[in-house]
Amino acid sequence: MNETSFAELKKYKDQYGTDYSIGDLTPTICEINNWEFPAQCGGTSIPVVVDHAQRVFEGEGKNEKTFIYCPDAVGEIHRQHYPELLARVEKTAGIRLLSSGVMPSVTPVCFGTIFTGASPEVHGIQKYAKPVLEVETLFDSAAKAEKKVAIISVNNCSIDMIFRKRKVDYYSLRTDARCREMAERVLRDDDYDMIICYSTDYDHLSHKTGCDSEESVTALKNCVQYFEDFARLTDEIWAEYNHTLVWAPDHGNHPISETSGTHGTNTAEDMLVNHFYRITPGKK
Ligand SMILES: [Zn+2]
Repeated sequence: MNETSFAELKKYKDQYGTDYSIGDLTPTICEINNWEFPAQCGGTSIPVVVDHAQRVFEGEGKNEKTFIYCPDAVGEIHRQHYPELLARVEKTAGIRLLSSGVMPSVTPVCFGTIFTGASPEVHGIQKYAKPVLEVETLFDSAAKAEKKVAIISVNNCSIDMIFRKRKVDYYSLRTDARCREMAERVLRDDDYDMIICYSTDYDHLSHKTGCDSEESVTALKNCVQYFEDFARLTDEIWAEYNHTLVWAPDHGNHPISETSGTHGTNTAEDMLVNHFYRITPGKK
């Protein structure tokens, strides 16, 4: 347990009164898969998820396959503004965890924390920049356990850049739709143990056209649709395996005007997100 990371993550949990931090995802995924935690991790594995996994897997065996879907900039604020949309995610997943983010609440800083369990001070990205991370990541934990990992994301986005130089297959594509297609293709044709799939459109369009523009809301609906698709596909293709599907956004956002949105501030709109977990036993 890295004390600096722990204290920095706790600071935001305390500020927002949440039980969880976005930095809890990595230790939780490590725990249910029986992988080592990254060295600089200060997050805590989430008992609700770990206990549920144990129950669902009937006490024996661990999780075997993991799919993590990352819709950029979908926060708690969107659950409040679009309850029917986020209710579909909750219905699909089962477990919802209101989690506090980290500062500044921008993409590389937040995904840096999500996939290391380290706080920004420790993982080193403390502004909008995309260096390759030097601290240990969830992907290094998977590699140590000899697991096969794919990261599917849009060209030059944070997730495409900051987790390079790992034992990972990187699929870098031009659009969210191409990433969604590739995720289905590798699910069907390959035997990955963990797949990360990222969507940029909601974030991109909310900066460009506003948080609640028609274009942005269409992108948000696509994220929900993709998650439902991934639930159906993982249940079908990973039917024999204990498997877990996660909805893991990085931060929320807020309007500057009717036609422009942003994020990066230490406010509830930007800092509160929901991570959802769907845990399914394999049909042995
Ligand atoms: Zn983002």
